[in-house]
Amino acid sequence: MDHEADGQTSLANARLTIDLGALVANWRTLAALAPGSEMSAVVKANAYGIGVDRAVPALATAGCRTFFVATVAEGLEVRSLAPDTIVYILDGLPPGSAAALAGQRLRPVLGTPREIAEWAAWKRQGGEGDCAVHFDTGMNRLGLGPDDTADFVQDPSLTTILSPALVMSHLACADVPEDPLNPAQLARFREVLARVPSVPASLVNSAGIFLGAKYHFAVCRPGIMLYGGRGPLDRAPLRTVVTAEARVLAVRSVAAGTPVGYGAAERTRKPSVLATLGVGYADGYHRLAGSSDARLGGTVFIRGRRAPLIGRVSMDLAVADVTSVPGVAAGDWAELFGPSIPLDEAASAAATIGYEFLTSLGRRYERRYIGG
Ligand SMILES: *Cc1c(COP(=O)(O)O)cnc(C)c1O
Repeated sequence: MDHEADGQTSLANARLTIDLGALVANWRTLAALAPGSEMSAVVKANAYGIGVDRAVPALATAGCRTFFVATVAEGLEVRSLAPDTIVYILDGLPPGSAAALAGQRLRPVLGTPREIAEWAAWKRQGGEGDCAVHFDTGMNRLGLGPDDTADFVQDPSLTTILSPALVMSHLACADVPEDPLNPAQLARFREVLARVPSVPASLVNSAGIFLGAKYHFAVCRPGIMLYGGRGPLDRAPLRTVVTAEARVLAVRSVAAGTPVGYGAAERTRKPSVLATLGVGYADGYHRLAGSSDARLGGTVFIRGRRAPLIGRVSMDLAVADVTSVPGVAAGDWAELFGPSIPLDEAASAAATIGYEFLTSLGRRYERRYIGG
């Protein structure tokens, strides 16, 4: 990725290239996989770190009509970015906030008896506004559990007064297609739907889309795959959205047995060439991506080849062993993840998942948006 080609000199030591065209292409790819359903977009946590202010307008222009966020603050931001779209607040209704949400046409996803009671009271006193109701089918975080679900379906006047625009649940193991919890949650969800008829339903996240049409229902809720994360589902034909790179600040040749970085956690095994990169855990390049004599860490891509990290990742710096990469020089850029090092691989080298790598991207990266 050549940021300097557009005539700007980069003053940053680390940079992100975010491909909004790829984001939209991924949304369309997922939509084509569930032709009978509406494809929404989950844009919580700053659109998984890529920038909600750029992601939402791009998706809305492409035709996305429904967005899911976690918090009310996130909902307000989406509302201002895309005034005519539907916005659901997955974390639900903060106490006493019914009027405030309704005033901004934000739809709470009601998932506790307290939230149900507050929204029903708001509607009974003549308040307007749409909502979703969340039934827990096996996740045990949010959503009405079995007892509260039984109470809810036994009181049809509640469904009438709430008149939910959507009923939803969430799969715990969608990324493990053979997990028996998937069909078990589907069956529980169907039992609930039989008791609250003719309300549009929503069950799946990104990975759930690949479980087949019977999981799709009216609305699919992909997040990570819009942003190019694949998880274990390599068969998804998705494009890379985020490329993270760090600049080579210094190159040095060292003898065998030379310790590298804090704690001298790793030593060179032979005469080596080391490249110090301008990225560290303060940028979200997790400390666990580091390497030691005991364990292998992450890999970067530089001058067309892979090079392993050596030693610990520190706050602002990481070191790559570029002994087998000819010609590395200060000023070069090394890819941390992107087209050559898949996001999920970089994350797993740091003992985490692509979701956490994206949502941890720090503020020091220079961000460049392309394809918008
Ligand atoms: C975050 C979230 C999603 C999106 O999940 P991905 O795995 O990123 O596709 C969907 N539904 C709910 C309830 C969520 O919290």
